[in-house]
Amino acid sequence: MKKVILLFIVFSIIFTFYSFASVSYFLPVKNFKTYLTSAFGEYRPSMTKSVSHFHMGVDFSTAYRSGVPIAAVTDGYIEKIDIDDDDIYGYTVYIRHDDGYLSVYAHLSKFGDNLSYLFESLKKEFGKNRIEIFFSPNEIRVKKGEIIGFSGQTGEALAPHCHLEIRDTQKNIAINPLNFLSDFVTAPKGDIRILGLRINGREVSIADKIHYFTGSLVNMEINATLKTDRNSLGLYKIELYMDGVLVYQILFDEISFDDFEAADVLFGRNSNASNYWYKLYSPETLSVVKLNKLPIEFPSESAVKIVVEDFWGRSKELKFRLLRR
Ligand SMILES: [Zn+2]
Repeated sequence: MKKVILLFIVFSIIFTFYSFASVSYFLPVKNFKTYLTSAFGEYRPSMTKSVSHFHMGVDFSTAYRSGVPIAAVTDGYIEKIDIDDDDIYGYTVYIRHDDGYLSVYAHLSKFGDNLSYLFESLKKEFGKNRIEIFFSPNEIRVKKGEIIGFSGQTGEALAPHCHLEIRDTQKNIAINPLNFLSDFVTAPKGDIRILGLRINGREVSIADKIHYFTGSLVNMEINATLKTDRNSLGLYKIELYMDGVLVYQILFDEISFDDFEAADVLFGRNSNASNYWYKLYSPETLSVVKLNKLPIEFPSESAVKIVVEDFWGRSKELKFRLLRR
């Protein structure tokens, strides 16, 4: 097993008061025309370094380039850095903000100037071991927009980009970072597409207005995406209505780290990093399933409506009648 080096760098603690004003965060990709390349909560299939999991943050384009400056989204201090080529996150900076949240910047190629000397010397000393370095509160203060590292593809990244997470460590959850970046990340050009429907595991035509089932339970799955001019993004809200009543709701606002590896509970087969089959049933409690009131026995006839929505409130719906054979 790989050796993990934990370092606690303790300097003098500076007692300073910082304001707790709740302000919008800055984009983490600095001086660069960036855009969203992955949404919060997308499916990530198992790869060499990981099992299948939820995407706990958002990704921003660096035009496939390493070395693009990555900046602190708001004021705070560096709480920790990770140096590990073999982890999902790669080289990572963790910043504790004055509002209490932790921001995480992953897949970096290198760290900011104030950390580069430390990085070089630790790399020399510990080589390829995983190194986690913890700093004392407020020792390394960073300002909103200050460069803390440079884009790269360390860890599990297919191309250089910026992965940003916002965590509430007390609740052990990741929060959708777009909630903090609404001033900067406007709705991308594109449209929501409903691409497929499965009823009890069998794919049916989305053009059909009547679907049949046997037995008492109906497990539905919907294949949908936000197709932009550049990529396919995961959706924000998926709702199932039966006879006008909301019975099931998935919302990608917060994901518990307890659910990190439970992505296969929510996503159906053939899901991948850009194709999402959302299961509209769950045998388990999941933090993203906000409502689960499916009938124990489905009525012999019902009017079904599935509504899929992106973060910016654009939606599309699929309506059909569900009949017991
Ligand atoms: Zn990412």
